[in-house]
Amino acid sequence: MTYDLLITNASVIDGTGKPAYKANILIKDDTIALVERDTTISYSATKTIDAHGLVLTPGFIDAHAHGDPMETPEFRNFLSMGITTICLGQDGFSPEHKNVRNWMDSVDAVKPAVNIVLFAGHNTIRMLSGTKYKPIPTEKDFSEMEELLTDAMDAGCYGMTTGLEYNPGYYSKSAELERLAKIVGSKKGLIMSHMRNENNETIESAIDELLAQGQYCPVHVSHIKVVYGKGKERAEELLERLNIARKKGIKVTADFYPYTASYTSIEILFPDWAKKPHNYDEIVKSRGEELRNFLKQKIIHRNGPEATLIGTGPYRGKTLAQIATELKKPFEEVLMNDIGPYGAYGAYFIMDEELQEALLKDPYVMLCTDGSPSMNHPRSFGSFAKMIETFVLKKQIMTLEEAVRKMTGLTAETIGLQDRGKIQTGLKADILVFNPSEVKEHTTYENPQQLSTGFNYIIINGKLVKENNQFYNKREGKMLRKTVN
Ligand SMILES: [Zn+2]
Repeated sequence: MTYDLLITNASVIDGTGKPAYKANILIKDDTIALVERDTTISYSATKTIDAHGLVLTPGFIDAHAHGDPMETPEFRNFLSMGITTICLGQDGFSPEHKNVRNWMDSVDAVKPAVNIVLFAGHNTIRMLSGTKYKPIPTEKDFSEMEELLTDAMDAGCYGMTTGLEYNPGYYSKSAELERLAKIVGSKKGLIMSHMRNENNETIESAIDELLAQGQYCPVHVSHIKVVYGKGKERAEELLERLNIARKKGIKVTADFYPYTASYTSIEILFPDWAKKPHNYDEIVKSRGEELRNFLKQKIIHRNGPEATLIGTGPYRGKTLAQIATELKKPFEEVLMNDIGPYGAYGAYFIMDEELQEALLKDPYVMLCTDGSPSMNHPRSFGSFAKMIETFVLKKQIMTLEEAVRKMTGLTAETIGLQDRGKIQTGLKADILVFNPSEVKEHTTYENPQQLSTGFNYIIINGKLVKENNQFYNKREGKMLRKTVN
């Protein structure tokens, strides 16, 4: 038998967290045909890569990503940091198509550069079903939502996401979410949640709301963080809450992006009464004073106008404090009149490094980017490189084996990707070969769109897409569909 690819003398970090071992890896078609620990045996292969002195890991899996495969199928931002699979449909928002199968087929037709996992978005289901902003769905709304969710799961979605800080998910009650969780559970799926609230004062109740859905299906905290929270002990309190739930039989995990500024639509600063479906101009006229005060308090609470960096539009690259000085008016006026709830995206410096690092170290927490090819936040371009460069090598807060597990095996197991995320005979050949000390992030808050470097070889579905640090112009990813058996 002649194999397609032989990678010799690699130091294999297999994605399970176990210590690295020497092996030769053989690939045939899209599959890891053999993991041979006896490196003295010779095999015939069309192509051989000498990986002496390099590590070999599964391709990284991004638990929470954004982007449209039809618009940016290259996904070079992800690929350049070793990501070979991304999970889309996040924060409650999935492609707005009643027929999810058609969308999946069009992803395959465009041939994305990375594999795509899709979750059905609860907010999108609310809009498509006609439930929209109703706090209590009618029985007819429920059956529409249940039908859409069932159909999405049958098409191959890996579960449902919620985005309860966004509209219209904001309007939904816990009972609705638990009812939908039953469907997700019956299809062996996972609920990933951008929870109702991530603030220090209220995060416990948001976690408890998610854990209640956990009696019906596994649940997962998206981009776990404590806004305004401080210190390692605060992280431990929350992690203990999750541990107690686990002891009661609830499956709960979380993902994490390794930066202390969040990034989202500026709407997150505005009160719900000023957002859709309300008419913003009317609100400014009738409740302007109240809104001005609300925004002022909100920004002061969020570490002040210096801690909000605008990422899009005419004020891109400036903090709210800088814009206020330039326009010679108070920052709350700038927000209310010059930007508005849908006028920009921003980076918000609202997290504590010590607290966040304690969250990252937890064995049930995996890595994500929460980024996209166009998002002006370093997490879009650097997260997975930073994991190795900063957390493993510079700060040494975890081993490389553990970091790789958080970027591969743990994630695959959590989302139910049975044939990826580990180096094992018979699994799909998504593989990276690299020297950890050469992995670098180059992105910054000021100049975010800089690709990471250092992954010498990238293999997706058995095909080399990067060799000797050179990308080939070919896309080898595909739509991954969940099969329930
Ligand atoms: Zn989110």
